[in-house]
Amino acid sequence: MVIVMKPSAPREMVDKIKRKMVSLGCDVHESVGKGQTILGLVGDTRLINPSQIEANVYVEKLLRVSHPFKLASRTFHPEDTVVKINGVSIGNGSLIVAAGPCAVESEDHLMEVASEIRKSGASMIRGGAFKPRTSPYSFQGLGEDGLKYLKKAKEATGMPVVSEAMDQTMFDMVEEYVDMIQIGARNMQNFALLKQAGKSKKPILLKRGMSATIEEFLMSAEYILAHGNPNVVLCERGIRTYETYTRNTLDLSAVPVIKELSHLPIMVDPSHGTGKWTLVEPMAKAAVAVGADGLMIEVHNQPEEAFSDGAQSLKYDNFQRMMDTVQKIYAVR
Ligand code: PEP
Ligand code: MN
Repeated sequence: MVIVMKPSAPREMVDKIKRKMVSLGCDVHESVGKGQTILGLVGDTRLINPSQIEANVYVEKLLRVSHPFKLASRTFHPEDTVVKINGVSIGNGSLIVAAGPCAVESEDHLMEVASEIRKSGASMIRGGAFKPRTSPYSFQGLGEDGLKYLKKAKEATGMPVVSEAMDQTMFDMVEEYVDMIQIGARNMQNFALLKQAGKSKKPILLKRGMSATIEEFLMSAEYILAHGNPNVVLCERGIRTYETYTRNTLDLSAVPVIKELSHLPIMVDPSHGTGKWTLVEPMAKAAVAVGADGLMIEVHNQPEEAFSDGAQSLKYDNFQRMMDTVQKIYAVR
């Protein structure tokens, strides 16, 4: 339930209603928009009498939220949320590109890739230190050493870093080194991990599960918000369909759908979304055109030698070209 207050409502009245709602057993989330205060009620709203609230002259209207997600819903929070990642803001009018290798491979390699992507205008470094691989025999990541190299690359370039925490045992360690913690597609419904992310002070990048509906995706974001962390960025990275030509089917319609349903920023990852480097630039352009706040792009100096996901990694010159084009699209969209 959402109580929209009239612009003329005095502060004392807003506070009085908030106290009353809390006394009836629900949590109240206040959001102050342009000239309007909105009170979003979560939890048990059974004791609330809607006609009593509507009788208050300072109440504009009462809305029932028809979605199961509340804190993630635009009805609760009409203004776009801006997430700040150590100096980089996502969701407030500039295109954020997180780029880098699929996996951190060595200190020198990461330093080189980081300095190249910065020259092309990237705003963040991505790179996995713990890799969720389909095969137990594939490269699993450098672990804590990888996190150390990410921190060094951040210090050398000034760009914040994002890296994945695959489970609860490693969460605190990842949190210590990085600026933004990624929860990968395979963990989108790891509810224990989502609760832990909700207790973190750092922003979370939540990737869409490969067979998750948009509603399930937003419910996972709701877990993080409900546990106290308001800094969630969503990432569409493709879903599994009957199509096998591409690694996944990049669901770009999810971007405008999520913009309607939610106030959270959304990025698109056309690298995992397509699995083929030739498709990364076209889908990045499309993603920006449909409203993405940011992109996540895998970049490698020698994709044929990459420890993982070489087939979908852009070389520096192609990354540069993609950056130039997407910035032009962003400027006119
Ligand atoms: C990644 O970004 O490193 C990754 C593994 O992506 P996803 O979880 O989307 O597969
Ligand atoms: Mn990858």
